[in-house]
Formats: sequence, structure tokens, C-alpha cells
Amino acid sequence: MFYCDDCRVKNDWPESFSKSMGNCEMCNEPAVCNDVPSRNLPAPTKPVLKACTINEKQWQIFKDLVEYLEEENVSDEVADDGDGCIDEWRSAKFQILIKDAKMMLSHLEESS
Ligand SMILES: [Zn+2]
Repeated sequence: MFYCDDCRVKNDWPESFSKSMGNCEMCNEPAVCNDVPSRNLPAPTKPVLKACTINEKQWQIFKDLVEYLEEENVSDEVADDGDGCIDEWRSAKFQILIKDAKMMLSHLEESS
């Protein structure tokens, strides 16, 4: 990481022995920056998610949405196949999202 002293103080990062002029990777401002390998920096703290519960109505909406996507076989990718037909399919990302959502639903149902 290449960072200026302002960002160093803000993040409580170490000061490097050698400094050079350049654009800070954090604030993008030109400054005399510290050059420290990222592995020597403390791992960024992950945001902590508050424990939350969903009410029955929110749960129902989520469940209905997932069921609708499945029943209607909703696709997120469309292309003309060249013969006047439209091909529709699900992208890998969409498939994974639906799979994860279904897994979460069944997990929630088991634990309730
Ligand atoms: Zn900076």
C-alpha cells in the first residue's frame, strides 16, 4: 500500500522508513507517501452485521419471490439465436443467487 500521512493516521497504519512522492492509494491525493507491503498492514475490519430477524410478512415476500423465479423459470440472459427465436437462460450468477436463496429459505424453515 502507498498512503499519505493523513491516511496513515486515520487508519492507524505504520510509517515506512522510506517515503516517496506520489498519489495516495487511499485518498488519491498527491503527497509524500508511505510505501508498506499490504501484508504488513492489519487486516481491514469487516463490518459487523447486526443480528436481525425478519417478520412473517417479509419472510413471505422473500419466499414468494424465490418461488416465482422458479415457477416462471425467470431468466436474466436473452439472445436472438439467429433463426427468429429468442433464447433465454440463467446466468451462472443468477443460478447461484437462486440456489443460495433457496438454501437460506430451507435453513430458516428448519430452524424455526
Ligand atoms: Zn491519503
